Amino acid sequence: METVRVIRTVREMHRVADRMRENGFRIGLVPTMGYLHGGHASLIRQIGRVTDRTVVSVFVNPAQFGPGEDFETYPRDFERDKAIVQAGGGTLVYAPSTSEMYPDGYATYLEVERLADHLCGASRPGHFRGVATVVTKLFAAVKPHVTILGQKDAQQAGIVRRLVRDLNLDVDILIAPTVREVDGLAKSSRNRYLTPCQRRRATVIYTALQEGRELVLNGERRASVVIDAMNRRVRRCPDLGVDYIAAVDAENFRPVEAFGARVLLAAAVRCGQSRLIDNIVVETEGQPVQELR
Ligand code: AMP
Repeated sequence: METVRVIRTVREMHRVADRMRENGFRIGLVPTMGYLHGGHASLIRQIGRVTDRTVVSVFVNPAQFGPGEDFETYPRDFERDKAIVQAGGGTLVYAPSTSEMYPDGYATYLEVERLADHLCGASRPGHFRGVATVVTKLFAAVKPHVTILGQKDAQQAGIVRRLVRDLNLDVDILIAPTVREVDGLAKSSRNRYLTPCQRRRATVIYTALQEGRELVLNGERRASVVIDAMNRRVRRCPDLGVDYIAAVDAENFRPVEAFGARVLLAAAVRCGQSRLIDNIVVETEGQPVQELR
């Protein structure tokens, strides 16, 4: 079988994207940092249903890592990534080098205000500035008609949606549900760092999110009560450090005091060298409300 095509330069990506557009193909882009897993594979498959050509970008973006974070050690396996793209029906891999993306003298960054104030934006200063910048650059190079992002990175998806609207970019956005391991842990390239013991303990993140949702669905509406219960659940596990556990408005990511129509329960937990994130949306429409005491 022919292996999937790899493009390394912006110039060639422009040329190939132009040709695909001239031929009337609908281009889909799946932006990733590589070390692909079942979550990425599901994005590739889903976007393939609505596009003619699927470009998967593989780029570990230094601009979204803070000092002391895991940029250097972020897992990489390009041959395996290519095989996963191919198996998912992807057309090509766009994998520019760091110097191709940020050549000497590079000076332009994009800031999406307010949406980055809480959750990962607060605990990783500058992270979403790097994300917004790289996504915009990938859009400029790949010229996609449509892109797909994972609900696992809900705040990132919200920020990209905002920047597409604000900059009038002609790109449709699909959001794909989180793909999980059988025990509920959200699939992530960073799960790779976990020791077997940490891997078992990490399942508590999803358990806590589900417990929070159960409480709300059983009528609890006070965010502080739900957050406390989730915190207790996670902190019972040795070796896990809570970065945040929060209940936020699912649209603007601002903390809520009481559960309304659509609330995101979100968690970031440090487990060994890994910082793992996960979230679930809780919809209260039509659910019983417990009286506030
Ligand atoms: P990453 O390579 O981690 O930057 O992720 C690239 C894209 O894949 C982002 O849109 C993520 O939200 C998405 N993604 C990562 N993990 C999952 C997962 N477990 N399920 C669904 N999408 C995911």
